Amino acid sequence: MKRIGVLTSGGDAPGMNAAIRAVVRTGLSQGWEVMGIRNGYSGLCNNNMAAMGARDVSGIIQHGGTALGSARCHEFLTEEGRRKALHNLEERAVEALVIIGGNGSQTGAHALSQMGFPVVGVASTIDNDLYGSEITIGVDTALDVALVAIDQLKVTASSHHRAFIVEVMGRDCGYLALVTGITGGAEYIVIPEFEIDAEDVVNAIRLAYERGKAHALIIVAEGARYNARGLENYFAKHHADTGFDLRITTLGHVQRGGTPGAFDRLLATRLGAAATEYIAQGKFGVLAGLTRGQITPTPLAEVVTGEKPLDLNLLRLSEVLNTQ
Ligand code: ATP
Repeated sequence: MKRIGVLTSGGDAPGMNAAIRAVVRTGLSQGWEVMGIRNGYSGLCNNNMAAMGARDVSGIIQHGGTALGSARCHEFLTEEGRRKALHNLEERAVEALVIIGGNGSQTGAHALSQMGFPVVGVASTIDNDLYGSEITIGVDTALDVALVAIDQLKVTASSHHRAFIVEVMGRDCGYLALVTGITGGAEYIVIPEFEIDAEDVVNAIRLAYERGKAHALIIVAEGARYNARGLENYFAKHHADTGFDLRITTLGHVQRGGTPGAFDRLLATRLGAAATEYIAQGKFGVLAGLTRGQITPTPLAEVVTGEKPLDLNLLRLSEVLNTQ
C-alpha cells in the first residue's frame, strides 16, 4: 500500500475533522501518502483531490464541520458515476479509501466495495441511525447544542409562563429528539417512529399548567408528522387552550455547527485510527464503529441492511417522569 484517500460525505457532523486528522496522521505513520478528497463523492467523480501532510490537519480538531467539505452527489448514485470515480482513483493511484459519513455515505461505500475497490467506513452522523455503531460521530455534540438552547428557553419560558415547542433535527430517526427531551426535561416528546394523537400534546401541556408548572416543553423531531409546523397548525385549527402562551422554536442546522466536545473528538480519533489499521490489515468492506465501548469492524453489507432500533424504554421513562 502506497497511497490511500479520505473523504467526508453527507451531512456534516462535529468531530469529522478529528477523524480526518487521525486518518491522515496514522496513514502517514504507516508510510503511506494520504489524499484528501474534496466535497464527498463529488470530489471522486470530479477528480478533486490533493495529498495532505501532517500540517494540513493542524488546528482543525476543535472545529465543527469538515475541512474537506461535504456534498450530496447525485452522479455517484449511478453506476456510470461510480465507474468514473473508480477511473479517477486508478489514475491517481489511490489504493484504498476511508469514507466518513452516515447511512447514505456507507451505502455508497458498500457499492464501491462491491465493485472491488478496498474501502473502510467511519461511522459519522448526528442522527445516530447507523447500524454498526451504538453512537456515531457528532451525536454527543449535537445533543449538547440542543440542550444549551433548551436550558435558555426554559429560563425565559418560566418568566412568562410559556410553553415551548422545540423542533430538533431527525428526518427518520427520533434519537436526537428522544435524548434531548429526556435530558432537557420535556413534558412530551414526538418522534417519527411513533404515531401520536396531537390532542395528547395539548393535554400534556394543559396538565402541566394545572400541576402548577411555570413552563412546559415539547420536543419534536423534524420528520414527525406532528413536527413544529404540524403542531402549530393543529393548535391554531382547534383553538387549543392550555393555560400557557405557546411559542415555537426550530433549532435546525444550528445543531450541526457546534464545537465538537471531548467525546466526539475522542470517538472520531479512535475511529479514524481504526480505519487505517483495518486498511493495514487488509480488512476491507467494513465500518469502523463503537460496540459496547470497543471499536469494532462491521461488514458494510450488514450496515446497509441492518436496522438500529430506538430504545423505547427511554420514551416510557420520560412519560413516567413527566406526568409528575
Ligand atoms: P446524514 O444522514 O448524516 O445526512 P448520510 O451519509 O446518510 O449523512 P446522504 O445524503 O444520505 O447522507 O448520502 C450522502 C451521499 O452518499 C449521497 O449524496 C450519494 O452521493 C451517496 N449515496 C447515498 N445513497 C447511495 C446509494 N444507494 N448508492 C450509492 N451512493 C449513495
